[in-house]
Amino acid sequence: MRWSDLVEGLFKDILELKTIDAHEHLLPEEEYLEQEYCGLNLFAGGYIYHDLESAGMPASFKGTMRLGGYRPVAEWWPQIAPYWENVKTTSFSNALRITVRDLYGIQEIDADTIGEIAARVQSDNRRGIYDWIFEEKCKISKVIDCIDRTLFPRDPRFVGITELMKVNIKRSDCIQTLAARSGHSISNLNDFEEAGFDLLERDIRHGSVGFKTIIDDRCEPDKDAAEKEFTWLKSDPTGMKGRFSSYPKALSDYLFDRWLNVAARANVPVAVHSGYWGDFRKLDPKFIYSFAPRRSDIHFDLFHLGMPMVREAAMIGKNLPNVSLNLTWCPIISQRQTISILNEIIDLVPLNKIIAFGGDYRVCVQKVYGHLVMMKEVLATILGDRIQSSDFGTNTALKIAQRWLYDNAIELYHLGVAR
Ligand SMILES: [Zn+2]
Repeated sequence: MRWSDLVEGLFKDILELKTIDAHEHLLPEEEYLEQEYCGLNLFAGGYIYHDLESAGMPASFKGTMRLGGYRPVAEWWPQIAPYWENVKTTSFSNALRITVRDLYGIQEIDADTIGEIAARVQSDNRRGIYDWIFEEKCKISKVIDCIDRTLFPRDPRFVGITELMKVNIKRSDCIQTLAARSGHSISNLNDFEEAGFDLLERDIRHGSVGFKTIIDDRCEPDKDAAEKEFTWLKSDPTGMKGRFSSYPKALSDYLFDRWLNVAARANVPVAVHSGYWGDFRKLDPKFIYSFAPRRSDIHFDLFHLGMPMVREAAMIGKNLPNVSLNLTWCPIISQRQTISILNEIIDLVPLNKIIAFGGDYRVCVQKVYGHLVMMKEVLATILGDRIQSSDFGTNTALKIAQRWLYDNAIELYHLGVAR
C-alpha cells in the first residue's frame, strides 16, 4: 500500500505494537512439525485453495492440498499454476505474497521462484518456528487457539476455546456419539443435558477461556418439544427424516440454551461464527438477535463481521451490550471491505467492543505474519484518514490501535487472570 508520509509513519508505529492473536486452529508446535509441510500448505492453509477452486482448479486436487509430508514441487505446482494468475490478486493470496516477500525476500510467486519458496518452507520445519513467527516477527504474546483437533497445547503462549455444541444434533447418531464422548449412559433428555455439561465443565477445568459456536436462528427453549424430539430420536434414529422437517430443531435449540449456562457460570465468552463459509445465507449475523438479547448473562464475540453482511454486524455491535465484534479473518477475505467498514465502525461502535486480529490458520503458521501486516495496513489507513480529517490526533489513533489489537482481547477473554 502507498500512503502519505503521515500514514506511513503511523503504520511504522502500529507495526511496533504488541498483539493478541484472538483466533487460530493451529496444532501445538511439536505436532505441527510432524506434518512435515513441503510448501503446498502455503496455498491450502489460509484459504487460497478456495479461490483456486473458484477459478477452475479441480476439487479432486484441492482435496489433497492440506495433506502433510513431502511432495516435489514438480508434482503440485503445475496443478496450481494455470489458476494462480487469476487468484494472486485476492486478499487470501495477498497474505501469502506479503509473507514470502518479508520472510524470504522473494518478490514474486511464479514458476521461477516456487522451488526456492518450497525449500524455505521445508527448512522452516524446526523447533522454534512458533517463537520466530509469533514473538519475533509478530510481537504476539498470546494465541487463542480453537481446540478442535488436539488436546490443549503445553505452550504457555496458547490458550484454548472449545466447541459449545458437544455433538452435532443434525446427525442421527448424536445420542450415541455424546454417550461415547462423555462416558455417560443417555436414556432421557436430562442425561443428554448432563453429558454436555460434564464435557463443557471438563474444558473449563483444562483451561478453556471460552466456547465457540456457529450462528443459527434459535428459538426460545421449549422443554416439552425438546423431550418429544429426544424420544423420537432415541427410539428410531434412522427415522429422523420422516419425523422432522430436516433435524430435531427444538432439541438443538433447547440444548444450546442449556449448555450456554456453563459459559455463564464460568464467566467465559462464547465466540459465534457468522457470515462467509459455504452457504452464507444461513449464517446471517442478524440471527444473533434470536438469542443474545435474552441471554444478557453471556458475552458473545461475533466473528468475521458477518462478511459480507458487515453493516448489519456493525449495527449489532452498536446495539447489543453483550456482543463484541471480532475481526478475525476479515482482512484476508477482503482487505478493502475491512477498511471501509472499520472506518464506519469508528462512528458506530464503542472502542472497547472491537477485537482486531485473529489469523484463523490451520496448516501454515508463517502466514499469520502476512495476515497481521494486512490488518495493520487497515488500521494505518483508517486511523490515518481520521488524523488527516482532524477527528483525533496520533496519540489517540495509537491508543485505539492498541485497544483493538491487544487490550480488548485481554479484557473480553479474561487473559489477564492467572489460570
Ligand atoms: Zn476459525
